[in-house]
Amino acid sequence: MEVEFNLENLKKCLCDCCPVQNKSRCVLDKMKIIQEISQDDLDSRIMIEEERIPALYCAEEKATITDLDSLQECQCDKCMVWKENNLFSGEPPGYFCRDGKAR
Ligand code: SF4
Ligand code: SF4
Repeated sequence: MEVEFNLENLKKCLCDCCPVQNKSRCVLDKMKIIQEISQDDLDSRIMIEEERIPALYCAEEKATITDLDSLQECQCDKCMVWKENNLFSGEPPGYFCRDGKAR
């Protein structure tokens, strides 16, 4: 079960508005990176910065974020990437930021 880390999927990803991570200082810092990346060169920058982009956790194994709020609800089951790639049948089925990429 491989989800591609690309601009199309990044636009569909709901992690940026997810309460599990949106109070994380680590994530807030990383969010600035997305704002700094201009639309013109996003596809090339995305290759360089994907490790630092706080989204699409189902596609990429990332460094563990330590200050997540796991009591909040993961948004993945509302996401088109999740539905299109049948991630509900994978392991883990959500909370990819905490539990690693979809397999
Ligand atoms: S399934 Fe979850 S991690 Fe993957 S793109 Fe959607 S919201 Fe982001
Ligand atoms: S993987 Fe799920 S829990 Fe983690 S930030 Fe994305 S939507 Fe929220």
